[in-house]
Amino acid sequence: MRDRFRVLVAAFVVLCLAGAAAAQSLPTPEQYLGFRVGTDRKLATWDQVVRYMQLAAQASDRIRYEELGKSTLGHPFILLTISSPQNLARLEEIRADQRRLAYPYELDESAAEAIFRRNPAVVLITLTIHSTEVAATQMSLELVYRLATEQSEYVEDILNKVVFLLAPSVNPDGQVLVVDWYNRNVGTEYEYSPLPWLYHKYTGHDNNRDAYMLTQVETRLVTKILYEDWFPLVFLDEHQMGSSGARLFVPPFADPINPNIEPAVMAAANLLGMYMFHKTYAAGLTGVQYGERFTWWWQGSAKNGAWYHNMVGLLTEMASAWLASPVEQRRTRLYQLSREEEPSGGPRDPREPLPPPRDTWARTNYPRPWLGGTWRLRDIVDYELVLTWALLEGVAANREMLQRNFYTLNRKAIETGRKGNPFAWVFPPEQHDPGAAAKLLEVLGLAGIEIYRAAAEFTADGQKFPAGSYVIPMAQPFRNYAKDLLEPQSYPMRPVRAGETPERPYDVTGWTLPYQMGVTAIRIDRPFDASLERFVPAPPAGALVGNPRARNVAFLLPHEWNASAHAVNRLLARNDVEVYWAAQSFQIAGQQYPEGTIVVRPTKSARDPAAILEHIARETHVRITAVEWPQTTLNAWRLRAPRIALYQPWTANMDEGWTRWLLEQYGFPYTTVHNADLRAGNLRARFDVIVFADQSKNSILNGNRGEWIRPEYRGGIGEAGVRALDEFVRTGGTLVTLGEAADLAIDALGLPVRNVLRNVPASQFFCPGAVLEILVDNRHPLGYGMPERTGSYFRNSPAFELVAPFTASEPRAVVRYPTENPLKSGWIGGPEHLSNRIGALEVRHGSGRVILFGFPVQWRAQPHATFKLLFNALHWSAATTATVP
Ligand SMILES: [Zn+2]
Repeated sequence: MRDRFRVLVAAFVVLCLAGAAAAQSLPTPEQYLGFRVGTDRKLATWDQVVRYMQLAAQASDRIRYEELGKSTLGHPFILLTISSPQNLARLEEIRADQRRLAYPYELDESAAEAIFRRNPAVVLITLTIHSTEVAATQMSLELVYRLATEQSEYVEDILNKVVFLLAPSVNPDGQVLVVDWYNRNVGTEYEYSPLPWLYHKYTGHDNNRDAYMLTQVETRLVTKILYEDWFPLVFLDEHQMGSSGARLFVPPFADPINPNIEPAVMAAANLLGMYMFHKTYAAGLTGVQYGERFTWWWQGSAKNGAWYHNMVGLLTEMASAWLASPVEQRRTRLYQLSREEEPSGGPRDPREPLPPPRDTWARTNYPRPWLGGTWRLRDIVDYELVLTWALLEGVAANREMLQRNFYTLNRKAIETGRKGNPFAWVFPPEQHDPGAAAKLLEVLGLAGIEIYRAAAEFTADGQKFPAGSYVIPMAQPFRNYAKDLLEPQSYPMRPVRAGETPERPYDVTGWTLPYQMGVTAIRIDRPFDASLERFVPAPPAGALVGNPRARNVAFLLPHEWNASAHAVNRLLARNDVEVYWAAQSFQIAGQQYPEGTIVVRPTKSARDPAAILEHIARETHVRITAVEWPQTTLNAWRLRAPRIALYQPWTANMDEGWTRWLLEQYGFPYTTVHNADLRAGNLRARFDVIVFADQSKNSILNGNRGEWIRPEYRGGIGEAGVRALDEFVRTGGTLVTLGEAADLAIDALGLPVRNVLRNVPASQFFCPGAVLEILVDNRHPLGYGMPERTGSYFRNSPAFELVAPFTASEPRAVVRYPTENPLKSGWIGGPEHLSNRIGALEVRHGSGRVILFGFPVQWRAQPHATFKLLFNALHWSAATTATVP
């Protein structure tokens, strides 16, 4: 007995020594980097961060390192799993239990209680999705060092009670781009020159608006952690905000609340927010605030999506330095009302001190307001260390409550769904664009929503649905998420008196996916029975059908499908087929084909046209029909591969990035053009169409100005660029403008068009992000393939009317708003300002044309219902009138 005890003690001593030795082998971040984390003008690179995390995992049995995948530009996207060695040894078991809590169909109370007793709480923290918010990734080095090495009751208690998933950067590309750019400029006169391109290749700052549409690989990786691998109970996303107000925002969030978030989720977030609020003040830090600006309303960021999955999504926002350069702010006193305005008539010089803080009123949710002074990277690191440890403490202390909350709410969701109202959403198999419907189902499936397909016909709410219909029952744990994305939003805007400006929502007010994507999805309220099988969404299978061996064969593609544009781009790259849009409807073998139908005819040199079309059909997921072509003349547009230019300013325009993303997804070859390319002129020789993404006229013309801007990135297209665009259009080119860029085209080319919303104040018209109804002229080539009525996105967008005289320019409205209120989802104030106004139009100018899209046809790559308008504009730019041979 005694000997056995001695052996145990000896083994314990050896283990402790091993632990201490391993801990000693991990250098401190300061030893590793050669400078203290947060030192002025010093930033660790992504390579250094990744290597340090690998060292920490090698040195410590508390840390596991994984590379989950590669970022858009090929950098490692990493995740650390940090917990006690005992927990890490049974990590797969813990993970399996998390899944049982997430989908508790078979998990009764007593089995759940057993999980609560044996398991730690899983918490995810993601850092620096916005790459100019540099501090958190830097901070993570000191955080991980302490977690890896400290032998204290405090740290060990947290490690025993928590499985901590840490993503040190969820946009590694931006970490690389921003740090490289800063290191290139620091210490020079251009230290404050902003990055002239997006810090995520396609989305820039909007990388945190992609959480439900999941277009980018980084968003998909975070989604996989959340809804496939881990189902964490708590998810904190650490950000930075502007430099001039509060030092730190923590939850509780502000109003309004979204009705699809469980109050128990909000309460748990409030509680954990209070841990951070308390600990930062207890540590002697000031300027910490809760309950303002950041609301419970919108969908789009990953941590917000977590709310609708009954997870406790949290946000922290630190005041920013200028990357790693300190910021000076003039001081003020408590309860002092500063009357100093931001200087107008030009950008603020970032080298000058900021005006004093304006919000100096001490109050419950902001008891020690920030009153100005010097603010440095190290300050942010210090606050972030305190708040991150506070959260881990709060999760450890409330482990069982958080587990029970998640389990109970997931059970409740299933029960609520069974009762109906709503009971399910049904997607009939016949859709205007089956690819859009498949995409909608796919993104819901990736977010943990269970989707079914009906094996047989069924009846629900008195309607018959065929076999093959897709069904999303509401009796599932994450029903609130599906419901919120499928139903219309009704934003609870607080009423204002006439002439007052309504309160601006944090982001958009509505997003209903079926409306944005032109997908038919029917809400069913009463319970029904149907034979359902689980279904993993996939794009429609492309196929060549009909009669491919016809003697005089033609191939028909549905213009209604967005994917057909992709197929057309493949076809236009070949010289053995000719591609047409029918300019009139026609009949073949009793089948009616609408105007705009895509007709492909092989040339004499085509060796095996059926094989070519079949291959393209499969690759682009389009159904192509082969027919015997009748010997009739059919008026048509003959397409040629358009030579597309996409304007990229040096102001890092997200809308340009989204446009570029969309063009690449649908196979449109394009050339990026900058200010110098446009100013050089002779554009018609190079391009058929030039696209301007949403950007103000002033920004396009003048770009960034200031002597702190690197000279090669100053300025815009200028007067020379305007003259070149005018000549380009007059000589037959097509100019396409999105959103506010319309103002440039209207003014610079003198178009007989007026943006009716240009000077309308928000007190009269206000629509800060909603889905609206539009009416489309689908007999105009721009409208081919569109239904006559559909949903479109709108975010304080321009709308147009024609201004006489315009005999020569023959403007044609292609999209109009209805005379009645066009709101389908979200919020609109002053809808009468849109009544019968034009949303998109074509204007002749010389021998070319200008196409103005007021509303965002490609908004964050979401409104599949209106992508086609842009695709048509691009294809049409190189089309000529013809007859199909
Ligand atoms: Zn941010």
